[in-house]
Amino acid sequence: MSKHKPVPSNSRKARKYRGTECLNCGQPLDLSDIYCPYCSQLNSTKQLSFKDFFAEFAGSIVTYDSRLRYTLKDLLFSPGTITKRYAKGERLKYANPFRFFLSVSIIYFILQSLITTFTGESAFLNFNEKPNEKEVSSGKTGNNFKLYSNKADSLKVDSVLQKNEMPNQRQVDSILKEKISGVKKDTLETYEYISEKSLDTLSRGERLLKRFSLYNDFYEITKIKSPTVALDSLKHSNTGFNRWAYEKNNSLERIKENPTAFVLYLAQKTPFFLFFFTPIYAFFFWFLYSSKKYSYMEHTVFIFHIFSFVFLGMIISLLPDLLLGFQLFSSLLFILVGPFYFYKALRNFYRQNRFITIVKFVFLSNVFLLGAGLAAFFFFLATAAFY
Ligand SMILES: [Zn+2]
Repeated sequence: MSKHKPVPSNSRKARKYRGTECLNCGQPLDLSDIYCPYCSQLNSTKQLSFKDFFAEFAGSIVTYDSRLRYTLKDLLFSPGTITKRYAKGERLKYANPFRFFLSVSIIYFILQSLITTFTGESAFLNFNEKPNEKEVSSGKTGNNFKLYSNKADSLKVDSVLQKNEMPNQRQVDSILKEKISGVKKDTLETYEYISEKSLDTLSRGERLLKRFSLYNDFYEITKIKSPTVALDSLKHSNTGFNRWAYEKNNSLERIKENPTAFVLYLAQKTPFFLFFFTPIYAFFFWFLYSSKKYSYMEHTVFIFHIFSFVFLGMIISLLPDLLLGFQLFSSLLFILVGPFYFYKALRNFYRQNRFITIVKFVFLSNVFLLGAGLAAFFFFLATAAFY
């Protein structure tokens, strides 16, 4: 006991307040136990005072604070070490790897969208360039209908739609007729009406493509936003899928109006994408390092630590990049610092010689670029479908 600091007699830790049973979990205790060995609660029967309550509250903050400090320090400055220690059993010292990864990535995107809101600029993609007005009016946007969808026309339709939420068939027809008669001949030829029946005769892929292009043409001419109204005047059946397909015109419009918001929307899904991609990626580590006695779960933790480092680096780069006006720091992170960190982490965690580590580094980097690229393509395509 001489190792411990002497405790004041009115302290909660004082010997006179100790019990023979833990008040929290019921574990039998010895009077010499300062803490319960089972649940780590203080062995004290002292009634709760204001001072004790406050001390306990402050203590929990300090504990959290020291965990965060250890995690940040080891994650930033000693690649691979944090995973090695975590795998060896130093768990309470560090923040939980999964929770930490999610927190760091979510904090990054909150900061990122704040910056986008206040500066109107996205730090990872510059979408400030508005489409060239000349190109739009000369019809170079790849869609001839742009020529005729001037403001006055769409306003007319809008006013009809506003007066009566569900315009009747006659109104829609007259708008259509008016529109189409005003369209040049060559433009009209590209608008090809396809009935539901003739769509059904096509192959699945072709049918999908034709349907989308028909709905898009129709939307560009009529500016009808409501899928139900549009499908009705196209004489297409009002199914959930058709409504969804037509609804995509509105999404496209929103993307055209504010591409930055769309990119941010997709980017914000990255943490969830990585969260689901990591278990697949970990399989390659498990395969490549089968001689090491690490479990599949420990490989997974390793990957989460690497991703956490990348997001931490991105958070750190935000401010300097914003001040510089271009992405110097985040570029350095992705081109130099990140790969170097990954290599060092592999060396420290798996302890293999330089040559073998470099070979595995190249292999794992390519697996990541290819695998994540492919998976991300489908993931973000599915995400975009719900925009
Ligand atoms: Zn206990």
